[in-house]
Amino acid sequence: MLPTDDIVYLKGVGPARAKVLAAEADIRTPLDLLLYFPFRHIDYSKLATVASLSEESGMVMMEGTVSNMAVVSTGPRRERLTVDFSDGTGYIQLVWFAGTKWVREKLKPGVVYNVMGHPSLFNGQWQMTHPELEVSTGQRSGTFLPVYNTTEKMKQHGLGSRALARLTEHLVTCIEGIDETLPADVLQRFHLPGRAEALKAIHYPASAEQLNAARNRLKFEELFFLQLDNQYASTSRQRLSHGRVFASVGDCFNRFYSEHLPFPLTGAQKRVIKEMREDMRSGHQMNRLLQGDVGSGKTLVALMTMLLALDNRAQACLMAPTEILATQHYNTFLRMLDGMGIRTELLIGSVRSADKKKMKQRIASGETQIVIGTHALIESDVVFRDLGLVVIDEQHRFGVQQRARLWDKGNPAPHILVMTATPIPRTLAMTLYGDLDCSVIDELPPGRTPVRTYHRTEPRRPLVFSFLKQQIDAGRQVYFVYPLIHESEKLDLRDLEDGLEMVQNYFPRPQYQVSMMHGQLTPEEKAFEMYRFKRGLTHIMVSTTVIEVGVDVPNATVMVIENAERFGLSQLHQLRGRVGRGSEQSYCILMTKDNLGATSRERIRTMCATTDGFKIAEADLRLRGPGDMQGLQQSGVLELKLASIVDDEPLVQATRNLVRDLLDADPSLSRYPELRRHIEHSKNKMLWSKIS
Ligand code: ADP
Ligand code: MG
Repeated sequence: MLPTDDIVYLKGVGPARAKVLAAEADIRTPLDLLLYFPFRHIDYSKLATVASLSEESGMVMMEGTVSNMAVVSTGPRRERLTVDFSDGTGYIQLVWFAGTKWVREKLKPGVVYNVMGHPSLFNGQWQMTHPELEVSTGQRSGTFLPVYNTTEKMKQHGLGSRALARLTEHLVTCIEGIDETLPADVLQRFHLPGRAEALKAIHYPASAEQLNAARNRLKFEELFFLQLDNQYASTSRQRLSHGRVFASVGDCFNRFYSEHLPFPLTGAQKRVIKEMREDMRSGHQMNRLLQGDVGSGKTLVALMTMLLALDNRAQACLMAPTEILATQHYNTFLRMLDGMGIRTELLIGSVRSADKKKMKQRIASGETQIVIGTHALIESDVVFRDLGLVVIDEQHRFGVQQRARLWDKGNPAPHILVMTATPIPRTLAMTLYGDLDCSVIDELPPGRTPVRTYHRTEPRRPLVFSFLKQQIDAGRQVYFVYPLIHESEKLDLRDLEDGLEMVQNYFPRPQYQVSMMHGQLTPEEKAFEMYRFKRGLTHIMVSTTVIEVGVDVPNATVMVIENAERFGLSQLHQLRGRVGRGSEQSYCILMTKDNLGATSRERIRTMCATTDGFKIAEADLRLRGPGDMQGLQQSGVLELKLASIVDDEPLVQATRNLVRDLLDADPSLSRYPELRRHIEHSKNKMLWSKIS
């Protein structure tokens, strides 16, 4: 039996070390320690020899004897201890700067030791600083020795890797009866070792194969429970929340399709609309994430889905993150629905309050069929007669709370469609959303020429400007985007104004007209600047990232991004999506300083190499790790110890499908008491999937 007490009672720990273990590694119980997995192993059967060392050796273990101990004083109460270590093939100098007294007392000539550490070449001589050292026993518990991450503080308290290994070596002898967490049939089907066996083998494997199997089993377990948490939440939601049934495709949809469709739908658009139709007539509430790269035509899909709601005598609304976008959607809708007699309204903060009041009355009476708006839509005094579908554009801009409030606006809860142009890498989507329905528009409308992207630095600015001049003189328009750099909005504004001045110097009035857009402008001012640019009254738009989302000016063909190294990949991709929306060849120019760090360089390189949003999202995930991805905090992804959603895609896939099948067959998990127990104890109470 594993001792279940406080780790303080484990032989060799005690109060001082227990405190360090808790503070430095979050280890409080023997089980915690057992779950503190080694990050690698040293293969005893492959003891290194001095003769075989190379700069690439990394951490090695060697066996030999010591001689020529020397102590040099390096200051008051400070000394350096060196000792020669020889294994018969050569010798290496071991060096200590601290704890020398202890080492001096311990080392004896003639005794055979194992040393472990990183060898390095110093003046042509192999050295190892602060190696771990112990008397060779000749007989070993296995051929592999676990190597644990330790901090300086842990080492100072005698909790180096080797010391931890002595603790785990003892622990693994008493884990036979440890609880199995995975169902027996799952273990069997996936050929996974039991939990006790895996926990033992991940510390002390008998072979590389066994180690692999153990790691695989433990990764599987992590991903399995992550999936279970997410999917259980979403399936219980499905079981609980009946959706209204949109049984018919009627006049609105059909008339639009045959008479108003401005262009043929792409295959992907058709497929996605069909997926949503299926959802909305299934009797379950639709809760679907629609991913599609910028320009893939999500708006049209949203519109047609909303028409389905209208055909079933429900209202529909579309919520956008900014007034600019809401207004733009509204105008698009008016244009596309022209002549169909569908009452569409725009509800945003800047509507006069008297008008707003009337608008709300029309929404409440059901006279208004489609409402487009911003956050203003979720205010509690906006009451619908019968809200059947909510579309949310650009999901990341909305907080969890805001989205949840939309649920309460219809009874039964309205169908929900969340659209995002920030593609989420496949593995991440699978992990995050579990069983959540996810549609992807993976095809751009025909006739688009991919944006060409170039990286330029300051010395070539004159060339960039003369290129812009050519474009503008040929009738095109240009964006300049500045990042938010400073904490203070004032300073950011100054950067922007400096930028504006530079641009205006090169593109003088009255021949060239320049718009400026930033967060400090009032909604009216923004709308005005947007209008001028959209109408072609201005040639250049100098802007902060407020331009980022959804703005649609097909005649704009060049985007210059200043200080591009300061933007994240997904933001660069979003920004670039503002150009390449028309039939002309478009360009994106990434201006950066000269010396870029490795990751910035990789980001810029990725941008120049591809326009595929999914590839960019994958690169982003790879470069930043999931830690920095938006919205992941509650997802559990960040708590994975072994599994990586970047590298373990097959396992992510396998566990996701498995959990889906289990829940399909047995939604309440009545046949799996161990899984039920997990669900009940799960700290992950946050219904992540509910919000999308
Ligand atoms: P996003 O997915 O970024 O929201 P939009 O819905 O704004 O993209 O569409 C981008 C542009 O593509 C719009 O000008 C839209 O009218 C056009 N578009 C959408 N669907 C098609 C299609 N099937 N064929 C041609 N153009 C399309
Ligand atoms: Mg859009």
